[in-house]
Amino acid sequence: MKKVKEVAGNNTSDLTEMNRSAIVRILQQKEVCTRAEISKLMGLTQASITKLVAYLMEMGIVSEVGIVKGNGNRRSIGLRLNAEKNLVIGVKFSRHVFAIGVFDISGKLYTQSETEFGLDENTEKVLTDMKKQIKNLLEEYKNIVAIGLALPGPYLRKEGRIAMVTRMPSWHNINFIEEFKHEFDKPVFIEQDANAGALAEWWFGNHGRPLSSLTYFLVGEGVGSGVVDHDSLLLGNQGIASEVGHISIDFNGPKCECGNRGCLELYCSTMAFLKKAKEEIPELFEKECENRLEACERVFSAARSSNEKAIRLVEEIAEYIGLGCVTLINAYDPEIIVIGDSISKGNELLLPTIKRIVKERTIPEVSERVRIEISSLNIDPTLYGAAAIATDRVLRKPSEYLVNN
Ligand SMILES: [Zn+2]
Repeated sequence: MKKVKEVAGNNTSDLTEMNRSAIVRILQQKEVCTRAEISKLMGLTQASITKLVAYLMEMGIVSEVGIVKGNGNRRSIGLRLNAEKNLVIGVKFSRHVFAIGVFDISGKLYTQSETEFGLDENTEKVLTDMKKQIKNLLEEYKNIVAIGLALPGPYLRKEGRIAMVTRMPSWHNINFIEEFKHEFDKPVFIEQDANAGALAEWWFGNHGRPLSSLTYFLVGEGVGSGVVDHDSLLLGNQGIASEVGHISIDFNGPKCECGNRGCLELYCSTMAFLKKAKEEIPELFEKECENRLEACERVFSAARSSNEKAIRLVEEIAEYIGLGCVTLINAYDPEIIVIGDSISKGNELLLPTIKRIVKERTIPEVSERVRIEISSLNIDPTLYGAAAIATDRVLRKPSEYLVNN
């Protein structure tokens, strides 16, 4: 009979690894830290920390960086994570483009590229090209320890399949786990794009620490969210928890591909936003746009130049995003909501309305305490998120993945 682990236990070796992981995660966030500070943050004795750090130094994962000023002006030896020795590849796959980047585990970007493909392009051809590019990078960068892949949601993470990709039915049957499992001699970790964005904000965003819970609200071609709660990604049973884009805001509304009616995504995706903008302000689109991002920026720019119709449209989409935030708050009680992807380029035009809706529709204790921000990452959040997927996993098991290159 197959044994099912119902209640997770921890062996002593697991606990040691968890403590090593906690140290490298602190150093990933703080850059330089002393043993005494780590001891205080983790609530372990200095003797325990000294022993754990000795192992991490022997493995080449952590180094000493000379004397730094500690608490009460005491001088102590600083420690840092050797991030540059441990690189990850991030791969973003979306409806008509895949992007690949090499980063280190502190989030520093080394190189990135984009490859466009048609919606009807042969899936095998696209995957072969993607794998070839990854192999070339593995050849070029010797310190790569893992690969992260971000896919459009809803992604069934146990099966390795995207459950529904609007206008891309040929991708529905691709098993991404099987495709990548034996392809490289490095581990490949896969998550959906909004979860990737949440991990990017968690690991590489500047939101202050300690942070209990962060929700990333992706508002772009698709609409979704990713939740990191107390250091763990919220996954649900099949990995499709927090699909806020398919929460109905009008049960009599238009039919969505998912089967529901009036899904949030139908009102505030770039597609919905631009469809309305093209109907109401056609003069903005007389010259062809290179992509949806540029098209969105034209509307935001018109609103910034006091175009009444553009202002109204932006106000309307901000209201929908606000409604999405209310749902996210009631469902996940986040400390911070970070709004990212194409629509977030509206930034200061959107925030006041979003905050007003949240204030009107949630209890005061909640609306006063939750932070709502626009992403300030300057790298594509999903590509950055793909790197964060790999970073998150390798930092959880430093002895297994991080190496003395
Ligand atoms: Zn739907």
